[in-house]
Amino acid sequence: MTAAEDEVGTCEFTGARAHKDQLKVSEASGKTFRGDQGQVSDLSGMSGHASEFVRCEFSGTVVLATEAERSAVSGEWVRRDWLVASDKNPSRRAARSETVRCAVSNALLLEDEVGRSVVSGLVVDRELLVPSALSGELALATELFTCEESGTRVLPDETASCSATGKRVRRDLLEESGISHKLYLRRLLRRCPETGVLGLENELETCQETGLAVAPEALATCTVTGRRVVKRLLVECAECSQPLLRSVATMTSRGELAHAQHVATSDFTGDLLLSSSLGRCSASTLLIEQEDLVGEFAGPLVAVAEAFGGPESTDASMMAAATGVLSAIGVRPKRVWTRPTKRDDLVAVLAEVPRRLLTPPRRYAFLISTGSGQVVGEIARVEPTPRGIRFSDAR
Ligand SMILES: [Zn+2]
Repeated sequence: MTAAEDEVGTCEFTGARAHKDQLKVSEASGKTFRGDQGQVSDLSGMSGHASEFVRCEFSGTVVLATEAERSAVSGEWVRRDWLVASDKNPSRRAARSETVRCAVSNALLLEDEVGRSVVSGLVVDRELLVPSALSGELALATELFTCEESGTRVLPDETASCSATGKRVRRDLLEESGISHKLYLRRLLRRCPETGVLGLENELETCQETGLAVAPEALATCTVTGRRVVKRLLVECAECSQPLLRSVATMTSRGELAHAQHVATSDFTGDLLLSSSLGRCSASTLLIEQEDLVGEFAGPLVAVAEAFGGPESTDASMMAAATGVLSAIGVRPKRVWTRPTKRDDLVAVLAEVPRRLLTPPRRYAFLISTGSGQVVGEIARVEPTPRGIRFSDAR
């Protein structure tokens, strides 16, 4: 069954048709609507169609749209009697819970009109805050520190003092000295050309050879000249390991660098060698290479001292030279043995001098320069003992 045409009306909000008994008139707009879609304002008590109402997010109540406004802060609906205007911009309104009182001016401001000082934590009118020139963080102008070097304003904890000038400045203008580990204005620091370390001019030392201003750790003292110089000019003595200037070091025949007093010339080879690689033959008193010593004696001298059982030298010039050498101690040899040395012009000689009947002959060992025929070093007396050859002073 359908209702008669004159008993039917139209909801002006939805366009739906309904029986007139079921329709009501909005007190807000005077328009007709279906009664079951009605709503009543919690603020004014006026009724209307549900679409004419909004929900105030702050009070949780439902009011007519004409009784509310959108918050300038959040954009949410706020019922009229819950709205507060900014003291600074009265045209801007928001819910009371979206407002803050400026700690400096005491003005009531909307949340988006204030900021917090990172220094004091105070919430104030955003326009009273100034950004730090270093970090951009906000604080009240009176809370910022003016850098004594640049004049820019930064947060107090973004500053430190220069240990040279005493100026309190923004931290990014300071750098630590690698020498004293104190903070200084970067413009006062110099870089050590040897180590790359930064230091204040008066923390650097001057190399006495190059004149360079360097970090103290770049210098060492030459044990010959006593001069403080950059380490790269020094070498380590191959004998004692102490540093000395390369320019005053002596190079051995083997290419080692050492103190002049730590090298000597071998009487055998003429080579300049480290003291520790030389030794003195107790019999000839010659300074020779350690490897040419047998015990405390020169190897060729020991070899020739043991040669008397073998063939004698047939070289007449050797006999003549030995005779000449031994004349110095008043004896004359009858037999001569020789052994070579490393040096072509140096020969080890054993000379035997006969004595009275039944008395054993005397033997002498020495080294002769074949060029000059002269003895090199001392003449040693040779005596066989059960424990081997014994050398003693011939004079
Ligand atoms: Zn040395």
